[in-house]
Amino acid sequence: MSMSAQSLAQLRVGPGGGFNLAEHDTRWLPDGLASLKKKARRSAGDRLLAANKLDLEEAQALLYADGQYSVLIVLQAMDAAGKDGTIKHVMSGVNPQGCRVSGFKVPSALEVDHDFLWRYEKELPQRGQIGIFNRSYYEDVLVVRVHPQILDAQPLPEKPDGEAFWQGRYDDINNFEEHLVRNGTVVLKFFLNLSKEEQKRRFLARLDTPDKNWKFSAADIRERGYWDDYMDAFGRCINATATEVAPWWVIPADRKWAARAMVADIITNTINSLDLHYPQLSAAERKDLARARTELEAEG
Ligand code: ATP
Ligand code: MG
Repeated sequence: MSMSAQSLAQLRVGPGGGFNLAEHDTRWLPDGLASLKKKARRSAGDRLLAANKLDLEEAQALLYADGQYSVLIVLQAMDAAGKDGTIKHVMSGVNPQGCRVSGFKVPSALEVDHDFLWRYEKELPQRGQIGIFNRSYYEDVLVVRVHPQILDAQPLPEKPDGEAFWQGRYDDINNFEEHLVRNGTVVLKFFLNLSKEEQKRRFLARLDTPDKNWKFSAADIRERGYWDDYMDAFGRCINATATEVAPWWVIPADRKWAARAMVADIITNTINSLDLHYPQLSAAERKDLARARTELEAEG
């Protein structure tokens, strides 16, 4: 089971510079789901997620056995868009040895004493592995672009000077991703596209539910105040960094269950489209196996 090519094309943002975030509906559903009634929709979405979780488990095992490629999954979104829940649900079937999640918060003093990509490079997945970045180097052109004063505390030789500075960072990111892809890392970038109204509902739910209170921080409300600046930064960023080798996937995120199903589908499809094989044994290796069998059986 998987989304149609047309639906996938709706979500994929490649190069060309024509991306306009305002045109992307945060409640959009793929073909197979949009035509169903409300209840049937939800269960079809859950089936799509469940099927993809099984496929992903197999796909990851093959990725590991093949040992040539790694997969980097980048998740970016506004607060409460569902990054954590997506990771939890989509990756729940994957062998924990083949997968690692790295979250990125405000950089430490040691981290800002390096180039802005340094702390992310150290967390990149090995061949055969899936690495998930819960926030990423994109923060350096998102939150930092919305609050450029963050850079005042960083010992950069060149002070940010308007558009050229951000263009420089977009170029750095594009070059970095091109380098990764050329060396066998598949780069999958997801923007969970949440509406401002749905964020309000989720924040209120966090306040209303004692078990969810810890998830709420005063900073979340403060950042919400910069909503339009964030949308502008996301729009510019996606336009500048949607490349042929590393396109963006803009996922409508107002319905959690639908967003998870779509993300799982895209990850599975991408891994399955790689030319992966279980290693073939040489004649000599097969002979060794036969000898091992004889030895074991001779033990009586
Ligand atoms: P959760 O709230 O679900 O625990 P989170 O990822 O939102 O997870 P927080 O500790 O709430 O974690 O927020 C991390 C903060 O760090 C975010 O506001 C993010 O924008 C900020 N951040 C991440 N990377 C950078 C960066 N390179 N420069 C400045 N701020 C950053
Ligand atoms: Mg947060």
